[in-house]
Amino acid sequence: MTTPSTDQPYLIAVVGAGPSGIYAAEALTQQTEVDVQVVVIDKLPVPFGLVRYGVAPDHPSIRSIRTTLERTLDRPNVSFFGDVAIGCDLTVAELTDHVDACIYAFGAGTSRRLGIPGEDAAGSITAPDLVSWYTGNPDSHVRRPTHPPADRAEAPRSLTPAELLNGLASAVVVGGGNVALDVARILAKDAAELATTDMADDVLTALRGKAVTDVHLLARRGPGQTTMTTKEVRELGRIDDCAVVVHPADLDWPAERELATGRIAQRNLAEFENFAADTAAGTTTCRRRIHLHFWTAPVEILTREGRVGAVAVTDTRPGADRTGVLDAGLVVRAIGYRGIALDGLPFDQATGRVPHDEGRVLTPAGEQVPGAYVTGWIKRGPTGVIGTNKSDAVETVHSLLHDLDDGELAPSHPTGLAELTTLLADRGVTPLDLPAWHRIDAAEVDHGRDAGRERVTLAHREELLAAAREPPEGGS
Ligand code: NAP
Repeated sequence: MTTPSTDQPYLIAVVGAGPSGIYAAEALTQQTEVDVQVVVIDKLPVPFGLVRYGVAPDHPSIRSIRTTLERTLDRPNVSFFGDVAIGCDLTVAELTDHVDACIYAFGAGTSRRLGIPGEDAAGSITAPDLVSWYTGNPDSHVRRPTHPPADRAEAPRSLTPAELLNGLASAVVVGGGNVALDVARILAKDAAELATTDMADDVLTALRGKAVTDVHLLARRGPGQTTMTTKEVRELGRIDDCAVVVHPADLDWPAERELATGRIAQRNLAEFENFAADTAAGTTTCRRRIHLHFWTAPVEILTREGRVGAVAVTDTRPGADRTGVLDAGLVVRAIGYRGIALDGLPFDQATGRVPHDEGRVLTPAGEQVPGAYVTGWIKRGPTGVIGTNKSDAVETVHSLLHDLDDGELAPSHPTGLAELTTLLADRGVTPLDLPAWHRIDAAEVDHGRDAGRERVTLAHREELLAAAREPPEGGS
């Protein structure tokens, strides 16, 4: 076993408590070659990242992966520091000074841009923003002052998702990936169908306000070239009182069969053919429809009375000159996530990722940044399923352990965790630990029991902090 000269374990920080960060903590603590103490830090009060704030609420089996992730946080040599923002409460340099190495796993926090006129109109939002809202992320559930300060009263404010959904009849979702499918499904489902999920009360109330009849999904490539997976495509056909509209002509583009060579593409085409057969028969009498428009890209988001009213679209097939306009009170841009730079860490603007070599962070000149590693979406880009993060984390941890073994990293922070806690306390920051999450967890399950559901997500920061608080001594 490689042990530091002080006989203390190496202190390794993991920034980001989503699946990629927790899988890194798992890989670090499952090995027996090097004695480590791991602190997993997240800016949110609760762990699990996109498993909690990305996976759709109507996918409970995927969301339940958090039970497995929690087992890693529960290990004796792992600590959880929630509600601590690196780059805000602590700089990268301060964190680096207090630990032996750091694995950055903070994901891809924003959306790509479409770059078309009207993109920022009221009623045009990114999928990350909508998903964050409907999964109950406290950053998307900030209470607004009913009486804003006088100097801010005139500032234009964006409409909340709840305001956008109120009375909404039709929506356009741009993108041909699984996030676009998640969003289309949530918009098309009747709120009653979502009432058994763990959605926050506010979210369910807002979803009850929509009157959606038509959701248009725009995929700029053909039906055999989308990034959708078949299970999710098939799921569209199971929504209550909702037809999936596919135009048979979209499946007959001559090159499509040759391009759709992969197994997933072939299976997707078979599903789309089933939908197209029903569309052609015109036999469905459903109240709601999801229209899958292949070979279709938006060219402009058009406004009516100051907010989104329609989307002008074009056919992307070579030589095609078909254009059209789709009515929509809401546009959701589900065109992929993008990483955000963290001050003090190298970042490649072109790719939206941290440059690295097998997880070792590199400077623009290609030199290794001592003690800095990356994993997850900020390392490889926003692709893959949750499990993809496991092998990714193993690669990064392997690089880190190799560097320790090579003597590249010298252990020097036996009291780093205590010093970090003191530094944070001096700044008025109290990290939320795993017992705090257990109390939040119990409060959500209790709330769910009262509502006849398995769990109800607490979406407001104040609710989370109140639930996290230790009961007074002698209290229950
Ligand atoms: P994605 O799979 O990369 O899909 C992004 C979509 O946006 C693609 O169809 C892309 O088209 C399109 N696009 C990009 N730029 C565009 C533009 N300027 N104009 C029009 N369309 C544009 O990303 P995602 O849907 O955000 O998903 C992220 C990852 O999470 C994926 O790996 C996904 O599988 C995973 N995920 C999985 C699940 C699940 O398993 N249930 C659920 C959600 C997410 P092109 O292909 O032509 O570039």
